[in-house]
Amino acid sequence: MQTSITPTTIRNQLRKKFGIPKKWTRRPVLDELIMTVLSQNTTDVNRDRAYAALRNRYGTWEDALRGNIKDLEEAISPAGLGPTKSVRIKQILKRAWEEGNCSGFDNLNTMSRDDARSFLLSLPGVGPKTAACVLLFACGIPAFPVDTHVFRVCGRLGLLPENADRAKAHDVAEEFFPEADYLEVHLNIIKLGRTVCRPTHPRCSECPLSEECTYWSKLKVEIGG
Ligand code: SF4
Repeated sequence: MQTSITPTTIRNQLRKKFGIPKKWTRRPVLDELIMTVLSQNTTDVNRDRAYAALRNRYGTWEDALRGNIKDLEEAISPAGLGPTKSVRIKQILKRAWEEGNCSGFDNLNTMSRDDARSFLLSLPGVGPKTAACVLLFACGIPAFPVDTHVFRVCGRLGLLPENADRAKAHDVAEEFFPEADYLEVHLNIIKLGRTVCRPTHPRCSECPLSEECTYWSKLKVEIGG
């Protein structure tokens, strides 16, 4: 850790700027899992279009499992990477069927976080971020998903060790923030990453975390500020 910023400062400053995120309706585990696979490397809008098309095309997940993979690929085309994502979705549905007739992996929320995470990571195409999203958004199990925005912001703030990869970043974030704040802070860091702490030309002068940000304090020295 290369910073003195506290988890409370981050939560409170982001809350002042973005508010407390609204409550959302929890989806069944299988729905959330497929939604998260669709969200990889695309925008929320395209993910939602692909998900809606998928649900329109198939009455049940079992229908999608039994259906032709080319049809499935076509349905999810708005999300991009159709050939890869359709195969992953089929494999996940197959596993869901084997585990309990496509009723979803609904016993996950009765497991410990470690066991539920290990199970999710054993599924095809599921990495640490997808597993954490499913745990947090569908199972109500505290987990801190680290997507590209969270990884960038946490890195710039100085929360991550040098050369930390995404998997390590999940461990760091889960240790750093209190479990009760995971959801709010995760969602508000994403908002910060999209609007202020952008990949290029971050707007540090508008950032509520700038006073204790490692990236900004180094940059100020370099530019003589
Ligand atoms: S001060 Fe700049 S680099 Fe630091 S978190 Fe804010 S926008 Fe990102």
